[in-house]
Amino acid sequence: MEVNFCMTCGHKLETRDIDGTMRRACTSCSFVHWGSYSIGVGALVRKEDRILLVRRAQEPGKGYWTNPGGYIEQQEPIQETIEREVLEECGVKAVVKSVAALRDQPRTIHNVYIAFEMEYAGGEPAPDNVEVDAAGFFSLRELETMNVAPFTKWLVDVAFHGEAQGLKLDENPVIPLSGYGLFRV
Ligand SMILES: [Zn+2]
Repeated sequence: MEVNFCMTCGHKLETRDIDGTMRRACTSCSFVHWGSYSIGVGALVRKEDRILLVRRAQEPGKGYWTNPGGYIEQQEPIQETIEREVLEECGVKAVVKSVAALRDQPRTIHNVYIAFEMEYAGGEPAPDNVEVDAAGFFSLRELETMNVAPFTKWLVDVAFHGEAQGLKLDENPVIPLSGYGLFRV
């Protein structure tokens, strides 16, 4: 789909050469339409040998068990988004420990999904009955007989068998970088 108007100032877009690629760009301001993207975030919350899963009450994936998660917001740091999503979906308080996995899915809307390892901090799983209609901590054995989404199965393996520490949130970067969320080895 071609975009016709600038998302920043509303003026007409034209097609022009930006560093060797023809792109839609604004005739009035510096806006360039680089493409269409979405970014998902997911939570891997373990409590001893069990992992927090929710059952999707809506499409896509209705009826499947998945880890809690959602899409990032324009102005919200991603670690706050995932902590909020977990609390909203199933009443569990959990704090980001590290970035544990990344999924790239190039398609019409190019999707990137970031999975966080999170520390359980309290609360009993209870579904919000809007996005999810069941929630709980489950063992690997229990998962065998549950309708777990394929990508969630992959993430569960990361949660239980990931061999590295992941990227940690850098609260005190050696260089002050205002407005950045920094995760590093
Ligand atoms: Zn513009």
